[in-house]
Amino acid sequence: MNNKMLAGTKPKVIIVDDDDTTRMMAMGFLSQAGFTVAEANEGSSALRMVLADPPDLIILDVEMPGMDGFEVCTALRDYPKFAHIPILMLTGLENDEYIEKAFVAGATDFASKPINWSLLCHRLRYMHRTSLAAEQLVKEQTKLAVAQRIAQMGSWSINIGTSKGEWSNQLYRILGFKPAETDSTIENFLQLVHHHDRDRVENWLLNVDKLVEVSSIEHRIILNDGKVKTVRQQAEPELDSVGRTISINGIVQDVTDQRLVEKKVHQLAYFDTLTRLPNRVLFHDQLTLTMEHARKNNTRLALLYFDLDDFKRVNDSFGHAVGDKLLCEVGNRLVDTLNASDSVHEHRITNDIIARMGGDEFIIVLNSIQSCSDIERIAERIIEVVSAPYEVDGFELFSSPSIGIACFPKDGEEIETLLKNADLAMYEAKRTGKSMYMLHTDAMAEKALRRSNIDIQMRSALDNDEFSVNYQVQVDLENKQIFSAEALVRWKNDKLGFVSPAEFISVAEDNGLIIAIGEWVLRKSCHQAKAWQDADFPVSQIAVNISVHQFMRSDFIDTVRRALYDSQLPADRLELEITESLLASDTNRAVDTLNELHELGVKLSIDDFGTGYSSLSQLKNFPIDRLKIDQSFIRNITENPHDADITKAIIAMAESMNIHVLAEGVETVDIFQFLRSCGCDEIQGYLISKPVSAIELEQNMPSVQALLEELFLSENSDKLRLAG
Ligand code: C2E
Ligand code: MG
Ligand code: MG
Repeated sequence: MNNKMLAGTKPKVIIVDDDDTTRMMAMGFLSQAGFTVAEANEGSSALRMVLADPPDLIILDVEMPGMDGFEVCTALRDYPKFAHIPILMLTGLENDEYIEKAFVAGATDFASKPINWSLLCHRLRYMHRTSLAAEQLVKEQTKLAVAQRIAQMGSWSINIGTSKGEWSNQLYRILGFKPAETDSTIENFLQLVHHHDRDRVENWLLNVDKLVEVSSIEHRIILNDGKVKTVRQQAEPELDSVGRTISINGIVQDVTDQRLVEKKVHQLAYFDTLTRLPNRVLFHDQLTLTMEHARKNNTRLALLYFDLDDFKRVNDSFGHAVGDKLLCEVGNRLVDTLNASDSVHEHRITNDIIARMGGDEFIIVLNSIQSCSDIERIAERIIEVVSAPYEVDGFELFSSPSIGIACFPKDGEEIETLLKNADLAMYEAKRTGKSMYMLHTDAMAEKALRRSNIDIQMRSALDNDEFSVNYQVQVDLENKQIFSAEALVRWKNDKLGFVSPAEFISVAEDNGLIIAIGEWVLRKSCHQAKAWQDADFPVSQIAVNISVHQFMRSDFIDTVRRALYDSQLPADRLELEITESLLASDTNRAVDTLNELHELGVKLSIDDFGTGYSSLSQLKNFPIDRLKIDQSFIRNITENPHDADITKAIIAMAESMNIHVLAEGVETVDIFQFLRSCGCDEIQGYLISKPVSAIELEQNMPSVQALLEELFLSENSDKLRLAG
């Protein structure tokens, strides 16, 4: 409470008059009435006093030498801080002209001489009280304006009777006007409302008076400078004592920034920042709705889950920024493809879902699927589109998707089951050959279960000594002798029985155990080869299969060195079999490692040659000693001219590059003879010996050698027969 009189402080009055008697009278009466009184006998000193210590009230004589009362009053009112200080002017008796002039100069009230001092004291007290209330009101209004400014809020009201509107200064500011620039009418306000929102806002305004409580609306306005703002309005009717609406009062809040932040938060929560596609969370919500709809309408959905083959290589070779741009482009292509009319069946409703699940994983849900061929056609189209070359930061990049497909409701009625099954199918697509799609089948789940059992059992297999190595001899056709044996790992587990390496090696590659298992096989084989060397056994060299995962490790060369050192096997008696995919993977690094191994003296061969994509000419860059032609070509070589041609071409090219050629999977005498006639250097296969344990091989060696002799002999007798 700011009432100085009530609070006990005395209000201060300055009496300004050139007449000594009047000042003296004023001092006496006013002090008695509880005022603190100061005096001035002319205008300019009065002004100085007021400036130095502003009083609560001023009594100002009109007629003074020098500055008169009007001038003093006008000068004071020029100061904003003295705009509301109560000034009482003392005029001559009933002088109308003076009274009028005093009003114009800004006086608060007047009294005419001669003065009734006791009455004047009462008047001053009333004036003081009114001034305190006004001061309080101004303060409140200022506070309200500040609050409105901080809250970016303005207010308005419309008088229903007169249709006159009133806008607060802050509302003018929100609307981008100065109060003098536009009239506060509804029409002027509606002019600013975004044309899409105008009808809605107009309708709302028309109905606000019919409501009993606060109602609100949110809409856009376009300012004169073209800026678009979002505002929220709330309004309430004001009623008279009999319940009639007399006016409507409202507020307008500028919520532009708030909505932008909310949009951003929403964007971050539900959309992938990179591709701007829905993220996993939104995907889940969308799919839930889509599935509900499909359930009700008895329609089918297809979930296409895919990731990019070898995407890691793009990141590793070109950096994450390039990888990110590639992912964005993949997202764009997906959106374009699914929106394009030619990619979808004309009967389909195309509100498909496309989302990025994280990393290089994307998911597409196709709605209202009619048939399997619909899905297959779209899957093929996606492979085609995603596999087209990319131009990123001046690099030409290639990528391809492996797609797993699960259908609703056939492959699952719940999201999690569908996702799991699509993922299984994707995994199969990857294993089978990449850049392809696979529809989920029940067998995949069985296969996955089997892999999971293998995975679990494998974890303790090394410790339980469940692995062993078998050896399969390799024969030099030129010297007609066994020159080497390939080490092939074997696994026998209590629960699973014998598990083929063709089955468990890929699991070991996935769970990382291939590193320990591979090293174990390498060391075991080196020791075996050394023992055979010491015993003069006719296997002078050992060939060990190496997984890309082992090869790509920075400590791989050390592992090989250690195995050689610990076994004391000369390096040139060890051959490492690597796969073609390694040559294609990360060429520079692969070349370095291969060169280092070559310098060590270790021999290198390419296993299963012909199944990958490496060309013979590419081999020039690698220090390769031997190519092992894959058994799939050898198996039908005598019947299939195409396979025979490929084999012959490989042999001819390899010869020109000084690389040996070994044919795998030789099972029959016919194949043996055919390969001899083509000039193949070496063979390996069941015809000579199956892979067997070291002991068995030692025991079998005499019979294996006898068999070889017979084979070469019969060949000679065939020739003799032919010659004869
Ligand atoms: P691979 O290296 O191409 O080995 C040749 C495979 O063909 C062996 O199968 C062998 O038993 C089989 N084979 C040999 N001669 C014939 C034949 O005349 N006819 C037929 N039908 N098959 C023949 P295995 O032992 O089941 O090994 C399969 C694959 O597992 C190997 O193919 C190799 O890629 C991988 N593997 C085996 N041991 C290891 C190992 O220690 N480390 C790694 N990383 N992979 C291994
Ligand atoms: Mg091999
Ligand atoms: Mg092979």
